[in-house]
Amino acid sequence: MLIPARMSEAEERRWVGVMLDKLAAQESRGVLGDRELTERALHLSEQYFDGRARPRSVRWVTNQNTRWGSCTPSEGSIRLSHRLQGMPEYVVDYVLLHELAHLLVPGHGPAFWRLLEAYPRTERARGYLEGVVAAARLPHPPAAGEAAREE
Ligand SMILES: [Zn+2]
Repeated sequence: MLIPARMSEAEERRWVGVMLDKLAAQESRGVLGDRELTERALHLSEQYFDGRARPRSVRWVTNQNTRWGSCTPSEGSIRLSHRLQGMPEYVVDYVLLHELAHLLVPGHGPAFWRLLEAYPRTERARGYLEGVVAAARLPHPPAAGEAAREE
């Protein structure tokens, strides 16, 4: 954490307070553990697929860099890329629903997308993920504050 130079003590205290609040907010937003993730998937299945998709396990994986999610229908297992962590909840929910739908319908035919139509944010979430992929291909502008040096 960098503290800009030439801050008065009062300013510094206020700034540290703001930063601590931000950190606390980040923590409470938190990342779901694997058990909560499985519960979330069951809840989504209940809500959008009448509970027909019944995953046995849902977990985060760090070895999946070309796909957001994957599933093994015969095992009822779903894996989500850790790159989704920190993305908006509706995006993670979409990827969960996408993999849940694959437990019911293999491939991406019309029957598959008909299932996903039940979730009102499918298009928005797909747009978000496309944006993430596109942004990763753009040349990087210097990040704000990049000139600052860590001591
Ligand atoms: Zn798929």
